[in-house]
Amino acid sequence: MRMCELLVGLPEVRVLGVDDVAGRPLRVHVASLLDQAWCRECGARASVKDRVEVVYVDLPCFGRPTRLVWHKERLCCRGRECPAGSWTVVDGRIASVRAVLTDRCARWCTIQVGRFGRSVNEVAADLACDWHTVNDAVLVYGEALLAADVDRVGAVDALGLDETLFVREGPRHLKRWCTSIVDVSSGGTAKLIDVIDGRTAAKVSEWIDERPEPWRDTIRWGVLDMSGPYRKVFDDSLPNATQVADPFHVIKHANSKLDECRRRVQNETLGHRGRKDDPLYRSRRLLTKGHERLDKTGAKKLTSLLKAGDPRGEVRMTWHAKETVRGMYDCDDPDAARAFIDELAADMAEPAMPVEVRSLAATLRRWRDLIVAWHDAKVTNGPTEAINNLIKRVKRVAFGFRSLRNYRVRALLYAGRPNWALLATITP
Ligand SMILES: [Zn+2]
Repeated sequence: MRMCELLVGLPEVRVLGVDDVAGRPLRVHVASLLDQAWCRECGARASVKDRVEVVYVDLPCFGRPTRLVWHKERLCCRGRECPAGSWTVVDGRIASVRAVLTDRCARWCTIQVGRFGRSVNEVAADLACDWHTVNDAVLVYGEALLAADVDRVGAVDALGLDETLFVREGPRHLKRWCTSIVDVSSGGTAKLIDVIDGRTAAKVSEWIDERPEPWRDTIRWGVLDMSGPYRKVFDDSLPNATQVADPFHVIKHANSKLDECRRRVQNETLGHRGRKDDPLYRSRRLLTKGHERLDKTGAKKLTSLLKAGDPRGEVRMTWHAKETVRGMYDCDDPDAARAFIDELAADMAEPAMPVEVRSLAATLRRWRDLIVAWHDAKVTNGPTEAINNLIKRVKRVAFGFRSLRNYRVRALLYAGRPNWALLATITP
């Protein structure tokens, strides 16, 4: 094999030459090695009718975008009265019919975007081609990889459901939601199993009902944020799984009540929404921080801001409620946790409490068994949240996700941990 062929690294080609025009992609000209070609219809010898040049986007070469110019023979049959007509040389190892990228370039794009989470724009710039060319390749090869990777989702002990905002659409920025279905079994790293359109109970139930029964039977825990629809999903479709309210979301809910209280008190005392010099407004970040994360200065600042902006001590009380809810997770024993939460909810429901604290008490009561179940399960959607962060990253680097198909494939390639070794074995 000659040096050129070795460098180009494609099977059975002859390198005809390289065009190098400054500022433009390198053009590598190749032709297939075909000593003899035979008609597919009648088996007679075929002869070369003419040649066509087909240009493909190929891997960057020596740091430069590169085009592969394939000089394809158009062949025709020599047999008289044969219906074969003429045809062009096809070699899927180089590029499939109608492809814009060479096969190896499409696989490379899939790894860059899918595995490493690079943006489609960035990869398209490396190749000097357009966004759609790269995105289409990632979709086609990515979906084929996911389909081939039948062992990707194994037995699941704890199944987490989490809603994700995946795009704001149209001039009114309507929110479109999807549901992330995640393996959050303890001991493992969370793995994104699938992404489905919407966040309604019916849609998610449908997905679960379609799984094989033995798989569903191994699920012991159903982990959810504090949303009614997902509770219904587990009630309907996984009735034997114990439901667990995710601690992350319980605390998040307490924090949002605290926020609500701060804004109400702000409004009642100053008659306007928070401005940057208002003491309560200035306290907002300190309030949602865990107390153990406040240093001396922070704690002192918080005390003085509340003294100035919270005359009836309502924000302070809600802050205490939030911190006590967090404290519930320090307790290791389920029975003690149940007693703790009952007592806490009773205290918080007292008429003297701010309305936000009373509302939090009602939520704790409604979700009590699911909150306590965490003390047995010790599983959390916290990792799901990490996956959502990965997804956010993917979203940020992407050029918008109009279609769920785009979004789903990208998220699964990035956070679904497919077996990348299989990529070499698939033919989309
Ligand atoms: Zn023929």
